[in-house]
Amino acid sequence: MDFYNPCMRNQQATQLLFELSHAGRRGARYPACDVPEETLDELLLQDHLADAPPPLPEVTEPDVVRHFVNLSTLNMSVDTHFYPLGSCTMKYNPKRHERLARLPGIGDVHPQQRPADNQGMLALLYEMQEMLAEIAGLPAVSLQPAAGAQGEFTALLLAAAYFRDRGEQRTKVLFPSSAHGTNPASAALAGFDTVQLKQTSNGLVDLEELGSHLDDQTAVFMITNPNTVGLFEPNIKRISDMLHEVGGLVYIDGANMNAILGITRPGDFGGDMMHYNVHKTFTGPHGAGGPGAGPIAVQDFLADYLPGPVVRNAEGGMGNTEGATYTLETPSKSVGRVRSFFGNVGILVRGYCYLRTLGAAGLREASEQAVLNANYLKARLEDVLPVPNGERCMHEFVASAKQVKQQRGVTAMDIAKRLLDYGFHAPTVYFPLDVPEAMMMEPTETESKETLDAFAEAVRTILTEDPDLLHTAPHSTAVSRPDEVEAGRSPCLSWMSCPASE
Ligand SMILES: *Cc1c(COP(=O)(O)O)cnc(C)c1O
Repeated sequence: MDFYNPCMRNQQATQLLFELSHAGRRGARYPACDVPEETLDELLLQDHLADAPPPLPEVTEPDVVRHFVNLSTLNMSVDTHFYPLGSCTMKYNPKRHERLARLPGIGDVHPQQRPADNQGMLALLYEMQEMLAEIAGLPAVSLQPAAGAQGEFTALLLAAAYFRDRGEQRTKVLFPSSAHGTNPASAALAGFDTVQLKQTSNGLVDLEELGSHLDDQTAVFMITNPNTVGLFEPNIKRISDMLHEVGGLVYIDGANMNAILGITRPGDFGGDMMHYNVHKTFTGPHGAGGPGAGPIAVQDFLADYLPGPVVRNAEGGMGNTEGATYTLETPSKSVGRVRSFFGNVGILVRGYCYLRTLGAAGLREASEQAVLNANYLKARLEDVLPVPNGERCMHEFVASAKQVKQQRGVTAMDIAKRLLDYGFHAPTVYFPLDVPEAMMMEPTETESKETLDAFAEAVRTILTEDPDLLHTAPHSTAVSRPDEVEAGRSPCLSWMSCPASE
C-alpha cells in the first residue's frame, strides 16, 4: 500500500522537512493586523530584495517536532547504546554536568566582562589550569585550544618559537607509524617536515630506528602513551632521554590519558608538552563534530610561549583563597591566540565538574576500572578475534579480524556494521593502520560487566552468521552502507543543490 503513515517512525525521519511541506501549513497564525499595514519598499533598497520568498517548508509545529525528535533517534549515542569506539573514550557524560554548566553564573557570563566582574569564572578556569598541570606533571597550561588536534598544533608552534629563540634550525618532527593522523597533520601545518618511524613487531617504539633519525635537525618526537594499540611504552623514559640528548623535545599525545590518571604523569616520564582531550578523558560530550577542548600543558621553559590569556592568581595556590584576585596575562613570548578567549569554556566546565567530583583518588580509580574493563573484554574475545600485541592492555586493545577474513571472507567492516543490528555502536575499525583488519575497542570505565558480556556475546554470534548476511549489514538502520568515499568527497549539504531523493 502506498500511503503516508505518520506513525512510521523511520520513514518520517528519513524524509526531509521539505518533503513534508504542504502549501499554507503553519506552526502559528497571528491575528489580523489592527494597525495600517506598511510595505517595506521605503525602508529597504529594492536591489537588496529577493525576487521571491525563500522556498521554506510549510509545516505544522507537530510536523517539525516529530521530524527532529525522530531524526534524533536514528543515531547511536552514549546515552542510548554501548559505544566502544577505540581512541575516542566515549565515556558516559553525567547529566549533572549539564545542569552545572547551565547555571546562570556560568552559562550567562560574557568573555568580554572585565576580569574584576568575572572572578568566579576566572577562579574556575584557574583551578582547571592547576588541576591539569598536576595531572600532567607539567606546570604551565593553556586552556585555549578547542580540540586535541589544535592542542598538538599549538604545542608545535611553541616548539618552533622556542627553537627559533635559541637560533636552532630544527626541521623534523618524528612519530611512530601507529600515530593518530592528526600528529603528522599538525606537524606539517606548523611548518615541520614529518618523519614516520617503523615500530617493533609488538607495536612499540623501535629504539634503534628512533636513534637512527635523531640529530641536530630533530625538533620533536610525538608519541601517544599508552600508544594506539593500547600498550604503555615500557621504554618511554629512555626514549625521552634520547630526544633530550640531541636537544629535541618530547610531545605526549594525551588522547589516552584515561588509562593513567593518577598513576603516572607525562612530565614524570620525560614529556615536555602534551594535550588533553577534555571531551574524551573528562566526560565532555563528543561526536558529530561538537565542541571539544584540547588544553596543553608544558614544561616551565616553554611557559612564556603559551597562547594568551592565561589566568593568574595574585595570591598563588589553589582554591577559593580569601580575597584572591584572578587576572589575565599574555605570556611574554606568546605565540598568539589560537582560539577566542579561553577556548570552549562550556566543555572545560564539564571537565572541571568531573575532576572536582572524583578528586585525586577517584580519578585513579576511574583509570584502573577502564583498564580492567578493557582487559576483561579482551579476554572474552581474543579466542575469536586475536589481539596481536601484548598479553595485557591498558584502557583499550586492538583485535584483528584477519583470520576471520581469511577463513570466511568476513571483514572488520562487516562485523562492525552488523553490531549496529545488535544495538551496539561499532568499535573503531582499520586504525591503527599497521594492524590488518583492525578493530580497536575501548569500553571505558562506565560500563558494567553485563554490558561487556552482552557485547562479547553479540560479536561471537556474528562470527557464526552467514557471511552474505554480514556483507550487507546493517539491516535494521535507516541507512545501511553509504558510499563513504563519495559522501566524503562530494558531501550533499543543501537540499536545494542535491539530486532528488528516491
Ligand atoms: C582523538 C585523538 C586525537 C585528536 O583529538 P581531537 O580532539 O579529535 O582533535 C589525537 N590523537 C589521538 C590518539 C586521538 O585519539
